[in-house]
Amino acid sequence: MLKTQVGIIGAGPSGLILARMLAQQGIESVILESQSRAHCEQRARAGVLEHDAANLLDEIGVGERMRREGLVHRGIFLRFDGCDHRIDMAELTGGRTITVYGQHEVIKDLIAAAIADGQALHFDVADVSLNDIDSDAPTIQYRHEGELRVLQCDVIAGCDGFHGVCRPSIPDGAIRSFARSYPFAWLGILSASAPASAELVYARHERGFALQSMRSPEVTRLYIQVPPDDTIDHWSDDQIWSELNTRLAVDGDWSLNRGPIVQRGITPMRSFVADPMQFGRLFLVGDAAHIVPPTGAKGMNLAIADVRVLAAALGAFYTKGDMRPLDTYSATCLRRVWNVQRFSAWMTQLLHRIGDDPFAARVQRAELEYVTSSRAAATALAENYVGLPFGALA
Ligand SMILES: Cc1cc2nc3c(=O)[nH]c(=O)nc-3n(C[C@H](O)[C@H](O)[C@H](O)COP(=O)(O)OP(=O)(O)OC[C@H]3O[C@@H](n4cnc5c(N)ncnc54)[C@H](O)[C@@H]3O)c2cc1C
Repeated sequence: MLKTQVGIIGAGPSGLILARMLAQQGIESVILESQSRAHCEQRARAGVLEHDAANLLDEIGVGERMRREGLVHRGIFLRFDGCDHRIDMAELTGGRTITVYGQHEVIKDLIAAAIADGQALHFDVADVSLNDIDSDAPTIQYRHEGELRVLQCDVIAGCDGFHGVCRPSIPDGAIRSFARSYPFAWLGILSASAPASAELVYARHERGFALQSMRSPEVTRLYIQVPPDDTIDHWSDDQIWSELNTRLAVDGDWSLNRGPIVQRGITPMRSFVADPMQFGRLFLVGDAAHIVPPTGAKGMNLAIADVRVLAAALGAFYTKGDMRPLDTYSATCLRRVWNVQRFSAWMTQLLHRIGDDPFAARVQRAELEYVTSSRAAATALAENYVGLPFGALA
């Protein structure tokens, strides 16, 4: 039987940042990850860090490369009816910005720092299962390097994403799930070409939503709205570029920079919340507890916000024996989670083609006009997009 204070399942942003914030308070943890290090470091996912999330990476000592290579953006474009409308987020929020830096780059920095600091971090573990999670000594059973092992912990942090084992380990009826599936998905590509626009472009087109984002000055990230049951082999490179060019068309001299497609995939769009985010000594963190549609660029940021709350609560538990912050972990996080669900759902309905209802389409267009002409409405978008300050809502 191995022992640690906090057993962390999953080496995504949640698990790696939590381990680091715990280590900085002298709290020991072990991270168990089912995938290989290479897989974790190459998985292309989110790419936008909120203002406070980027600052938190600095505070925990892994922000150096992000500050050097990340792209600080002060605004985004909303594009509809062939016109661009810039939302000057920094000006509307007193200087708050976003940083474009790929999630897999964040992961590389965190893994390198964890290994340099001697953090217990095991990749390629299998057959993970949780036991006695409603006791003071929960255990994690897993297979690693051919051996079956048992890790006894004070607390387990379920940082294993939406499809992990932690949430399903909670007995039926102990948590309530809230879910919404959207009638569309996102086809996303990474193109080895320079972004045509230096800032993100969110386009509403009658054929559906499109987004031009980026991962670096040499790599463009592009998305189009597709039917929920679509498959990637239905799409040739030419079809993808043609659809992107149509939906992102704008008056004036602008066109996408076509390059080799180096990664492609279709991601379903869903919203999900588990309430509470805790059962006994198991705490759910990040995607294990909630999923947001990616329109508001919030998934990784929300995970980081949970981690911040849990790390502080565990600090109070170990230094003062104070259980209260752990007892209120779920309620504290859920205030922000529901606000981010609200914003992500709003951005999604603002920009996607949802059915063929002409009335709904007119209301959507009116809302786009309002957001791009009213300072109050633009400010509401901006302050949520750069992220409400940590501490304001958890
Ligand atoms: C395909 C895809 C594209 C996305 N694109 C965007 C985007 O463009 N913008 C955005 O904001 N968000 C995006 N997201 C969401 C964002 O990436 C997540 O919100 C973020 O990764 C959450 O971090 P996490 O650490 O909670 O979970 P994850 O990053 O999912 O990490 C969970 C970890 O647990 C591991 N794991 C799973 N099961 C087990 C097990 N049984 N045992 C041990 N380890 C296990 C996984 O391998 C993984 O490493 C995307 C998500 C996906 C899946």
